[in-house]
Amino acid sequence: MTEPVLAVEGLTKHFPVERGILRRAVAWVRAVDGVDFAIAPGETLCLVGESGCGKSTVARMVLRLTEPTSGAIRLGGTDITTLSEAEMAPFRRRVQMVFQDPYASLNPRLRVGQIVGEPLENFETFSAAERTARVGAILAKVGLRPEAAGRYPFEFSGGQRQRIGIARALALRPELIVADEPVSALDVSVQAQVLNLLMDLQEEFGLAFLFVSHDLAVVEHIGHRIAVMYLGHIVEIGPKDEVLSNPQHPYTQALIAAAPIPDPRAKRERMVIEGDVPSPLNPPSGCRFHTRCPFAFARCSEEKPALREIAPGRRAACHLLDQPG
Ligand code: SF4
Repeated sequence: MTEPVLAVEGLTKHFPVERGILRRAVAWVRAVDGVDFAIAPGETLCLVGESGCGKSTVARMVLRLTEPTSGAIRLGGTDITTLSEAEMAPFRRRVQMVFQDPYASLNPRLRVGQIVGEPLENFETFSAAERTARVGAILAKVGLRPEAAGRYPFEFSGGQRQRIGIARALALRPELIVADEPVSALDVSVQAQVLNLLMDLQEEFGLAFLFVSHDLAVVEHIGHRIAVMYLGHIVEIGPKDEVLSNPQHPYTQALIAAAPIPDPRAKRERMVIEGDVPSPLNPPSGCRFHTRCPFAFARCSEEKPALREIAPGRRAACHLLDQPG
């Protein structure tokens, strides 16, 4: 089997709730609670789930923007979880991020050429002419003209700004791009253009993506595999088409029913998911979905279901799937 670009094992993040002058931890928010997955070269794994499920925290931990509480993050087989900032430097160029908000993520005081060229300068030295040529080539890859280098972010539309963000991420020729809701701030008419750009770049450069989204239509467009998260756990993971057309976990079924995807092959039954996501400060016992699951039975509140293989390449965590027939 090909070495994964990224593998995370038992990844956990508990945030302290601090009180008093000494800021003692009086409780812990269990934002991510033991997550495992791997991404192959050239593959897109989509992390999906409702707001607060922990998907963005996972994305930030992969980049070490948020430090994990426990678990391992392996890039190309090397455990980077506890590397110092200096030791991380060679790995930083291998993983880049595209952010949700193309307005907030670009420095408004810098010209586009500086924004895109800055990561290059951190790792390489070259002449001004070489720099201009490199930046121009990257801008061309994302569909922008070389003249864009001399302009400021405010002079561009939302979709163009996200192209600039992608160009910046692309500058160092990473193996993996972590994209956190990269099209959710864009008009629907522009979303498909940006998704298609990402897919074209993936094909050209063999890029892998960890793609965080709450929007199943977006995931349907760009994903190869889907990992569904609920309250800090992955509850189902598998190939996109199989998960979307034949979801096995009740939460995945509810998510899909709530956000129908225009796919005539998919047979979906209406299933309403009641209530809000419980607080990760005090998550439900056993299966964390049991307070909202229409199929919950006694065992569900007592015993946490394991994320186990239900078919080749597919795993789900539900006691119903343990029952014969
Ligand atoms: Fe529902 Fe129980 Fe399955 Fe959890 S384990 S999803 S509560 S049936």
